[in-house]
Amino acid sequence: EFLEASNFIEEIITEDLKNGKFNYVQTRFPPEPNGYLHIGHAKAIVINFEIAKKFDGKCNLRFDDTNPTKENLDYINSIIEDVKWLGYDFGDKVYYASDYFGQMYELAIALIKQGKAYVCHQSPEEIRLLRGTLTQPGIKSPYRSRSIEENLELFEKMKNGEFEEGECVLRAKIDMSHPNLNMRDPVMYRIIKTPHHRTEDKWCIYPTYDWAHGLEDSIEKVTHSLCTLEFEDHRVLYDWFLDQLGVFHPRQIEFARLNITHTVLSKRKLLYLAQNNYVNGWDDPRMPTIKGLRRRGFTSDIIKDFIQKIGVTKSNSTIDYALLDHCAREELNKKAKRAMVVQDPIKLIIENYPEDKIDYVEASNNPEDNSFGKRLVSFSKELFIERSDFAIEPPKGFRRLFVGQEVRLVFAYYVVCTGYEKDDNGNVTTVWCTYDPNSKGGWTSDGRKVKGTIHWVNAKDCTDVELRMYDKLFLKENPEETDERNDFIANLNPNSLIIKDAKAEKSLLEAKDFENFQFLRLGYFCKDIDSAQDHIIFNKTVDLKDSYSK
Ligand code: ATP
Ligand code: MG
Ligand code: MG
Repeated sequence: EFLEASNFIEEIITEDLKNGKFNYVQTRFPPEPNGYLHIGHAKAIVINFEIAKKFDGKCNLRFDDTNPTKENLDYINSIIEDVKWLGYDFGDKVYYASDYFGQMYELAIALIKQGKAYVCHQSPEEIRLLRGTLTQPGIKSPYRSRSIEENLELFEKMKNGEFEEGECVLRAKIDMSHPNLNMRDPVMYRIIKTPHHRTEDKWCIYPTYDWAHGLEDSIEKVTHSLCTLEFEDHRVLYDWFLDQLGVFHPRQIEFARLNITHTVLSKRKLLYLAQNNYVNGWDDPRMPTIKGLRRRGFTSDIIKDFIQKIGVTKSNSTIDYALLDHCAREELNKKAKRAMVVQDPIKLIIENYPEDKIDYVEASNNPEDNSFGKRLVSFSKELFIERSDFAIEPPKGFRRLFVGQEVRLVFAYYVVCTGYEKDDNGNVTTVWCTYDPNSKGGWTSDGRKVKGTIHWVNAKDCTDVELRMYDKLFLKENPEETDERNDFIANLNPNSLIIKDAKAEKSLLEAKDFENFQFLRLGYFCKDIDSAQDHIIFNKTVDLKDSYSK
């Protein structure tokens, strides 16, 4: 179903199968466990798993755990949870780059023996400076001409911990004047003396991305290694390593990275927001992380639909955040149960309604889908309605309550407004009305029409709830515009979270964590995991109105 229209990646794969380059298809999703997954990762997950499915192949979940200073087990577990939550099956086995450290070490020795790698004592700074530029060739390291024997000996010493961090690296010996800077003797191993979350202190040399990634793909017999466009310039190096070693050679294909307006998609920046309390952690509902989106009320179907709608292309672009909201609305309109909540309550008292009577009216759980059934909502003389549904001096065309105006209380009765009361500050506290006993259900047999319909809850039988209303995390469309390291912080929206104490119908006491609702006229909400039995919290997912335009 997904990625239905054939995209350029599928065309390449189809061609590779037809001409016999490969006779099966295997992909992988290779996160580094140094943070939580965000919606950009969801794009890579959907592409890799859906393509494998389409070609009857498999997709590995592989942790690219090659830097112990930034990685940990919490991240690993949360990534596994998120991939599963998105609905993808990666089989019984999770793969780890760290399981291949031994093989990678042997292959590095093979490369040294071919005279194509050397131990270099230049500092990272020197290496960078001497690499040259696009218009200037690099300068060869004085250590480049070492003998194979000396390199073998030094590399073994590196592995055995006989050098300190930063003292030396292993570099590939390629071409210091290559037009592609990545080919100018790239670093393959650096020394890191931090224990690794899986291999502990077995290793103190760690492979760089360029050296490790192709080998990981090759060892797992991945046929198509799909990655984002920033790696296009690294493909020649990816190919070079595999060619020198003569091992199984996957094909790297690059696609456009996902960018979304009004947010940042970088683990480093998201980590910065969480660690400095600009948000309440990784799973804050304002965060574009999978965990944040989930807590906000997004379902895996919404996320997959979004990824499917943006498609797979080879040119970078920034997607309007409103498209994500649009996908949420479309799905939740079909899937969310309806309920009534009053977010800014004032009392409505029905003068001619019996004092102690509690009645029940029937309410549809989802007018889009009869299988949701109906529920009974309690009704009495005293209700809560929205402050904004009453006006002392109504603007022209006001369709809600003002003295003399008749409206429908949804599912219940017609009422005519008869008066109101204010407190000392001039704020309306109570609105008075009379009801038509013959309008139960919200209709009359005389067919008279009312101007508007408003929602309500029974003041004698309701529950207090907290509503958390979210807005964009960043004011600017592109908060990263300035590119200074943490300048994006200056663009944070100071009003991205507003909390309201609301009155809700009692049925919401039974809501389950993450359950989605449409609160009539207010928007889509879902129950937050921080709720307590006597303090239920709902996060606003998105409002009802669609601002997305193509
Ligand atoms: P970040 O820059 O947020 O730290 P990353 O690319 O370093 O992300 P990895 O864990 O290395 O994160 O990524 C795992 C996979 O997800 C990679 O194949 C990467 O290309 C892909 N990916 C990461 N971010 C995006 C994005 N915004 N859009 C599409 N794919 C992405
Ligand atoms: Mg990375
Ligand atoms: Mg990155």
